[in-house]
Amino acid sequence: MAVIEINFKCKVQKEKIVCNFVAMDFSSKLLENAVHEMSQLPGIGKRTALRLVLHLLKQPSGQTARLSSALEDLRNSVKFCAQCHNISDVELCEICTNPKRDESLVCVVEDIRDVMAIENTGQFNGLYHVLGGKISPMEGVGPQELTISSLVIKAKEGKIKELIFALSSTMEGDTTNFYIYKQLEGLDIKTSTIARGIAIGDELEYADEVTLGRSILNRIPFANSLKAN
Ligand SMILES: [Zn+2]
Repeated sequence: MAVIEINFKCKVQKEKIVCNFVAMDFSSKLLENAVHEMSQLPGIGKRTALRLVLHLLKQPSGQTARLSSALEDLRNSVKFCAQCHNISDVELCEICTNPKRDESLVCVVEDIRDVMAIENTGQFNGLYHVLGGKISPMEGVGPQELTISSLVIKAKEGKIKELIFALSSTMEGDTTNFYIYKQLEGLDIKTSTIARGIAIGDELEYADEVTLGRSILNRIPFANSLKAN
C-alpha cells in the first residue's frame, strides 16, 4: 500500500517524504477522490488533505456521517437574511428582528465573519449589511456580484442615518467603499469608516476585540479617510 509506504519513509528519510507526498501515488481511488475534494478547501494543501482524510477514516463512521450531513444540510437549507444578507436559518435574521438594535445605523461588512467579529466586541448596536465580498476586477468580482444595489435601495428608503464602512483596508476594500460612497451621493446619509488601529491589509476577523471595538467607537467620517490617502 502506497500510504503505508509513505508513513514508513516518513520515519526514515525526511526529504523523501516530500517527494512522495507531492507525487501522491494513491493505492485507492476512493482515497484519492476524498483527498482531492478536501484539498479544494482554502488553505488545505494535498498533504493536509491526506492527514484530515486519514484522521476521518480512523473515527467511528457516525462521526463522518454527522460531518457530511451537517455540510449537506447547510448547503441545502441555508438562507440569507432578506434584509442584511447575513447567513440565517430564517427569512430575517436575529439581528435585523431585534427591536433593541438601532436601524438607523448600518455597518457595511464583507461577510459573516466580520459580523461575528464586530458582535464579539459588544460595541455596536446597529444593523449590518453583508456585501458577500469586495469589488475585485482581478478575481472577476464586480459591483453586480455583491449586494450593493440592495444597500442603495435601503439607503434611498430613508431609514438609514449613518453607514459605517468596515471592510478590510485593502485595495479591494477601499475600492468597494468608494464605489458605495459614490452611489450614495446626494442622499442625506452620514458615511464613516472604522478607525484603523488595524494594520493595513489585516482582515477584521483577526483584529482583537478591544482594538476592533475601539475602532468602531472612534470611527471617522469617510470623506476624511479619502483626504488621508
Ligand atoms: Zn439580517
